[in-house]
Amino acid sequence: MNDRDLQDSTVAIHGGRSLDSHASSILFPLYQTSTFVHDAVGVDKGFSYSRVSNPTVDALEKAIGALEETPPAVCFRTGMAAITTLFLSLLKSGDHVVLSDVVYGGTMRLFREVFDHLGITASFVDSSDANNVETAISPATRMVFIETPGNPTLKLTDIEAIAQIARRHSIILAVDNTFLTPILQKPFLLGADISVLSTTKYIDGHNATLGGSLATHDEKLLERFRLIRKTIGTMQSPFEAWLTLQGMKTLPARLRLHCEGAARIAAWLEAQTAVERVYYPGLDSFPQKALAEKQQRSPGAMIAFELKDGLDAAVKALNSVKLCSRAESLGGLETLITHPSTTTHADVEVELRRSLGISDGLIRLSVGLEAPEDILADLEQAFAAEK
Ligand code: PLP
Repeated sequence: MNDRDLQDSTVAIHGGRSLDSHASSILFPLYQTSTFVHDAVGVDKGFSYSRVSNPTVDALEKAIGALEETPPAVCFRTGMAAITTLFLSLLKSGDHVVLSDVVYGGTMRLFREVFDHLGITASFVDSSDANNVETAISPATRMVFIETPGNPTLKLTDIEAIAQIARRHSIILAVDNTFLTPILQKPFLLGADISVLSTTKYIDGHNATLGGSLATHDEKLLERFRLIRKTIGTMQSPFEAWLTLQGMKTLPARLRLHCEGAARIAAWLEAQTAVERVYYPGLDSFPQKALAEKQQRSPGAMIAFELKDGLDAAVKALNSVKLCSRAESLGGLETLITHPSTTTHADVEVELRRSLGISDGLIRLSVGLEAPEDILADLEQAFAAEK
């Protein structure tokens, strides 16, 4: 049966999977080894050294490829390793990239601290208006890199509109789809060339691993990613790959529950007197709700909200939660609560932070799989706390 005939929840469990040829164990084995023995000079079973390839990482790459509906993906030790390998694979000194201004802070830092010094330049633009992307393109531009929904205010970028611009200029379009995964948003159907995931988040889903992946239909690009990965050593580890393979089997089921909980919590937040504003693509008040409906299969499970009383109220609420965990990251079973202006975006200049809508009272929630009423009760007591 072709994977394309199957529903996502079936693909997550069976897509790209093959039984281990040695003992037919139902779970693909963990090949925790650095090297492989050659049968004779020049004769091997397809594997030589785990920085280059490993059967367990291979199994994960086929499984992610099945979800992305592409050939096997290329997996990396972290999401940042995937993003770094992507840029190093395609760019050289003198090249230029246009990125969303709301990309993950680590992606922004990569340009400021590393690529700028190597002569690779970047323009960070508000890609929610496609004209800004087109205006920033110069003869040196080789790639557009967008992230949608953006962090932390969930600002959306119209993937299809940007893909048309990129195609017109013969530029590659990469989409960081970490917040929604290929279950809730299909960048390739909207014209993207490359899908980027931090598998650390929803793909693993258990806050147990770090990882990243690059997927594309272009076999030459896949070859290039593999070559650069083995050269700079950004390969995923067998153990992380094995854990990720298990976690991702429940991805569609988890996402259904994550999203149900998030919709309920977002509606509740909007009704609270302590809350000034809620950012959630499923709410009527979300300015880009129509775009979310067009390109996403669900509003997702990330919420941002602003407290009326600013920094003091946000710090008090974060220090008073009992069930939500004060932690960075997202996409796991545990509901995580973060204060972007003092954590994820602390080293972003105040002016830029303001222009991105990151006020001192802004709080981000990654809605987990606890019963939503328990999370609501926790937030209610945190808003009412005296401290
Ligand atoms: N992309 C997005 C959207 C992220 O949120 C993150 C991490 O938070 C990354 C990439 C980087 O992934 P990792 O932490 O696995 O390196």
